[in-house]
Amino acid sequence: MTASVTIAMLLANATTMLAESMALEKREARIEARVLLAHGLEVDHAWLIAHDQDAPTPAQLHAIEDLLARRASGEPVAYMLAEREFYGLSFKVTPDVLIPRPDTELLVETALEQMPENTPCRILDLGTGSGVIAITLALQRPLSTVLAVDASLAALAIAQENSRQLGTTNVVCICSNWYAMLDVKKFDIIVSNPPYIAASDPHLASGDLRFEPRQALASGADGLDDIRQIIAGAPSHLVEGGWLLLEHGCTQAAAVTALLQQHGFTAIRTLKDLAGLDRVSMGSWSGQAG
Ligand code: GLN
Repeated sequence: MTASVTIAMLLANATTMLAESMALEKREARIEARVLLAHGLEVDHAWLIAHDQDAPTPAQLHAIEDLLARRASGEPVAYMLAEREFYGLSFKVTPDVLIPRPDTELLVETALEQMPENTPCRILDLGTGSGVIAITLALQRPLSTVLAVDASLAALAIAQENSRQLGTTNVVCICSNWYAMLDVKKFDIIVSNPPYIAASDPHLASGDLRFEPRQALASGADGLDDIRQIIAGAPSHLVEGGWLLLEHGCTQAAAVTALLQQHGFTAIRTLKDLAGLDRVSMGSWSGQAG
């Protein structure tokens, strides 16, 4: 009789398999293996540790093998779990929206620094996707109101569901291609994590990006098509002294700064992400065309 496969054995095998097939570091592969096993068995990590000598049933084994095979073929963990943590909260994600990245927490933190806690701010989030930026700002600043805009109805449905799940009452979602449906509404802060990857960038054909909505990632020959539109339209939607904060690619800071200057923004600054790369630029609308 062959000994049954234990959870400890499964974990070890899955780690080796993921490390090899995904070219992951062992540590990273172990984390992914643990996450996928816990998901397949519908248990938490503490349970996995306490029960590592248990043998899963054939049906459970089958479910785990299926998850591991999907991951080995490149499917992002966030889509397999249909959730991703952002700023300490769990958000629903599907292939209709970009997977939230830790880099974007810099955009949120920087925006929060511009919003005193006791002052109601009118915030616009352009290209909200799953709604992580809009919802986090709304929860951190309950006196403020957030208008979350996306051109994708499928994305807006996810943002709306996240907003409901997380109990926000100060987020309104509308379908609009950037400012198209906004008439002359004025905001104190505009934030955006727009598509900013050059259409020919080989990264689009690797890793998680292959599975994410292309229209949320790529933006013309230099990746700046959408950023150009967002910056050009911001002055007519900001109060004087209002802020525009944009996430962008690590090589785009100079171009974004120049665009902000051209359109009359002042106090322009670029901030670096956790990897030390230029990731967010911001400027204050001076009230005068540049
Ligand atoms: N930060 C993402 C990446 O480079 C891109 C997100 C975006 O284009 N807004 O993987």
